[in-house]
Amino acid sequence: MLRTFIACLGTETNTFSPMPTGMQTFEEGTFYHGDATRHPPDLFSEPLHVWRRMTEERQGQTVESLAAFAQPGGTTVRAVYERLRDEILDDLRRAGPVDVVLLAMHGAMVAEGYDDCEGDLLARVRAIVGPEVVVGAELDLHCSVTARMLANADVIVTFKEYPHVDGAARAAELFDICVRAREGAVRPVMAVHDCRMINMWRTPVEPFRSVVAQMQAAEGRDGVLSVSFAHGFPWGDVADASAKVLVVADGEVGIAERTARNFGDRIWDLREQCRQPTVDITAALDALAAAPRGPVVLADVADNAGGGAPSDSTFVLAALLERGIGNVLVGHFWDPIAVRFCQEAGEGATLDLRIGGKCGVASGMPIDLRVTVRRIVADARQSFGTSTSSMGTAVWVSTDDGIDLTLNTRRTQVFHPDGFEQLGIDLAARHGIVVKSTQHFYDGFAPIASEVIYVAAPGAIPPDFAAIPYTKFTTAYWPRVEDPFAAG
Ligand SMILES: [Zn+2]
Repeated sequence: MLRTFIACLGTETNTFSPMPTGMQTFEEGTFYHGDATRHPPDLFSEPLHVWRRMTEERQGQTVESLAAFAQPGGTTVRAVYERLRDEILDDLRRAGPVDVVLLAMHGAMVAEGYDDCEGDLLARVRAIVGPEVVVGAELDLHCSVTARMLANADVIVTFKEYPHVDGAARAAELFDICVRAREGAVRPVMAVHDCRMINMWRTPVEPFRSVVAQMQAAEGRDGVLSVSFAHGFPWGDVADASAKVLVVADGEVGIAERTARNFGDRIWDLREQCRQPTVDITAALDALAAAPRGPVVLADVADNAGGGAPSDSTFVLAALLERGIGNVLVGHFWDPIAVRFCQEAGEGATLDLRIGGKCGVASGMPIDLRVTVRRIVADARQSFGTSTSSMGTAVWVSTDDGIDLTLNTRRTQVFHPDGFEQLGIDLAARHGIVVKSTQHFYDGFAPIASEVIYVAAPGAIPPDFAAIPYTKFTTAYWPRVEDPFAAG
């Protein structure tokens, strides 16, 4: 009988962020002690649902451990990481013999004293289960693949899609390869090609749409089991920060190496087409003002909570107010204090409210506005792919000048229109919608947007990749140098 051990531990660590990631951030995120699969799935618990279902379809048995995932922020507190990690390891020791260990992790988690949390966890798992048990890991594509991860896992698969709409599909593929490996039907070997690039790649649009399709077409033929492109996480200052192609082949490492290099070359050749499409605030608001119809969606990419930003920056809002542009919605501001005041005043109340600008210099200055509280929703949620994510308490406030704002108590980026719509906001009637998100908003908003503009406002995760002040990541990389391979 097949016995699987499943767990999830992760966050995406912005090592430049001043916001500590402690136990409270995990508790507010995904946080289940062995029963995540009895609750609705979210992005990082969903693989556990898939793995349990697939195990049970084979009349197997699943031992389920921790599922803990924190909203991206600053470096994880050491004792918190160690406590969560050790909970998984203790469960694994108690589980008795298992055939396959499957872990859902991010791949860019940093804790105090641990630049490679995933490599650390995998090494400790391997030490417990020994070399015969198959160890598989599913990672977010914004991960830093390390030698330690490769040495201690049999199979690593990353998401292929950004927005990450394919967590469940990749989980199923990982399960399939790992179980076949356990049965002796395949012998997975992995190889990595370092692309020496720091960038963001948006997969719904060309040229990257085709790269994803080519990766999938290569799988399951000529000895290739899986092709992943690990985009890297630009705001994680770790030795392995750069983008890498990771290939799993059956038995022959040469096949994995050649395939990884081929895809790496393809991605390198597309670099100019994949440069960031961002414009500055002035150009973005010029385009908004000139747009014949709405809603124009402006992505405030530098204040994306999903990259560890505070989600309370006011730079775009300040510019809108200064130029007197109305009929614009901006959200979601992480501002528990402002939400508290709105709750005290109640729906329908008009009050002076200080909004945003509270977390640090990357947040800009707070803005004082006279607003009317239009709607308050406790336990607000928004869709993301096939799962949903909590927003805490959400509030819609409006000014007399046609500025609508959403405020909430659980820090999160904008994933989907329903996050606004549950408050009663009619998105189609807005000329502009400013979403604090880099790309995850795209799936839900592209169908309703007259136009999508990526705005390079100031903030915690500015999209100028040549200028990120790395100290631990010392490899020459594009776009800081034109040819990092020549630089050696
Ligand atoms: Zn990601």
